[in-house]
Amino acid sequence: MNNNQRPGGQPRPGNNGYPQGQSRPAGRNGYTQNNPPRNGAQGNNVPRNNQQNNIPRGNPAQNGARGTYNNNQRQGNANGRTANSRPANGRPANAPRQNYRAPAKRSAEPQKIKLTAEQIEINRVQRQRERYYAKKRRASAIRTFISRFIIYLVLVVILSGVTAMMFFYNLVRVSGSDESGYTYEIGGKRSTLRYVDAVRDGRVYVSFSDIADLCGLAVIGDVDDIKYVIKSDEAETIRFLTGSRVAYVNKVETRLGADSYYKDGKVYVPVDFVKTYFKGLNISVDSRKHTVTVDRVITNLGDDGKLPKNTEAEYADLYFLLQYPSTVDHIDEEEAAAAVPMPELGFLTDLSGYEQYLNPGNTPEYLTLVNTTHNLDATYVPPDLTSVVNTRNDGRQTQQMRLYAEKALEAMFIELKAAGYEDVSVTSAYRSYATQEYNFNNRKQQYIAGGMSEADAYAATAAVINPPGSSEHQSGLCADLHNLPAADVAFANEAAYTWLKENCWKFGFILRYPEDKVSITGISFEPWHYRYVGRFHAQQMKTLGMCLEEYWTYLGNK
Ligand SMILES: [Zn+2]
Repeated sequence: MNNNQRPGGQPRPGNNGYPQGQSRPAGRNGYTQNNPPRNGAQGNNVPRNNQQNNIPRGNPAQNGARGTYNNNQRQGNANGRTANSRPANGRPANAPRQNYRAPAKRSAEPQKIKLTAEQIEINRVQRQRERYYAKKRRASAIRTFISRFIIYLVLVVILSGVTAMMFFYNLVRVSGSDESGYTYEIGGKRSTLRYVDAVRDGRVYVSFSDIADLCGLAVIGDVDDIKYVIKSDEAETIRFLTGSRVAYVNKVETRLGADSYYKDGKVYVPVDFVKTYFKGLNISVDSRKHTVTVDRVITNLGDDGKLPKNTEAEYADLYFLLQYPSTVDHIDEEEAAAAVPMPELGFLTDLSGYEQYLNPGNTPEYLTLVNTTHNLDATYVPPDLTSVVNTRNDGRQTQQMRLYAEKALEAMFIELKAAGYEDVSVTSAYRSYATQEYNFNNRKQQYIAGGMSEADAYAATAAVINPPGSSEHQSGLCADLHNLPAADVAFANEAAYTWLKENCWKFGFILRYPEDKVSITGISFEPWHYRYVGRFHAQQMKTLGMCLEEYWTYLGNK
């Protein structure tokens, strides 16, 4: 390598000769000059040369020393090298020369060419490899970037998708609870109704026409005044004056919680009314899911609640709950009013807005007699329970009464307060069968725990608590009202009681358990317990001096 830069610029003869493509003889000369001493000094150097030649990295130095290796003249080196090896092999007077030449020619010469080419190739490959790896690194960086970008993009898409779904879910949920319609399944037949038709006045409606189809009821009359009859017992009828609250259950005039209506060939009524008065049906209302399901009660279901295979369903009898004495709905109101004239009311306040509730007419609906011999069905829940606004404000649950009774009670409280009695309030009104049952059993267990027999405990309990089904509180037509910490006969000493006793009839109420009727009612004097019957009957009973049991007998004997 340094050969070209030798001082004096006089390269060795060998150097000049070989690289410039001079003939071999010149090269030979060059070699004879340069090599013999070295070879001579080294003696048997041939094998070494061979060895050296075989070491790829060692050769350039060796060659350089001999002036044969030149980077600038790589192509020319091929010749130089050929020459280079020759002296080794062709040394004069070297006997083993012939032996060595052959292998040297075969191995060293091609090896030298190959080595250089290999070097070039290695460099080229290395550069190529570097370029390749640089390219690969760039490509891999790009791939990493792209894949990360895609992951982020996917995440963003998923997140925005989830957000959008939540948004729409909320939207649907809100509209679902407020505006979406109701789905009905009546005897397995599905239908839907828009919300405005499914819910009116806060009440869920059902098509009575569909229920009549399910039960095979006969239909009589037209859409304004339509009557449904149970075919197996024609005495069982239900009748609606469509467009009003008036309905007749077994000829007994009653009130729906809201107006019935006619639409698209069907009569719609509040479902709670059907649930209350139509027996032999399973009716479930899910006001959250907006579904109403109506089916006939099946009596031969298996223990698993399913109909056994190959068995035909047997249905429970259909009937309507109200069964009043036939005489009650034949009162001649005019005759009765003539016999017992209606006194002046003399209200202190304007109660004209309440008049319809104070005097619902000659309707026996609110005359229901509930006592130990006239029990209410365990399943009876009044159809139109309404919050009692005059519930005592001491943290207790807001009490409930049937709509007409509650409105009439509101009016009575307005007058009561106007008369100066502001401390009276309602402590108890509607009580469910289950509540009464719980209270009754609770007390009975106390007696049994105290050592009484079952029969004695029952009798002792019944003396203070009405057995379930026999409490008037289940009717939703009565309320306990007073101004004492707890209901007590001491209320009879209060001026408020005197006012109530004298005026409650004007609002359609009676003192249900008077002091002088204990032997008839079977209940001790309760100055706090008032029962709604409507003004007409209340005034009759007051004037006649009768309690409800007596009045029933009176009406039945007329
Ligand atoms: Zn009571």
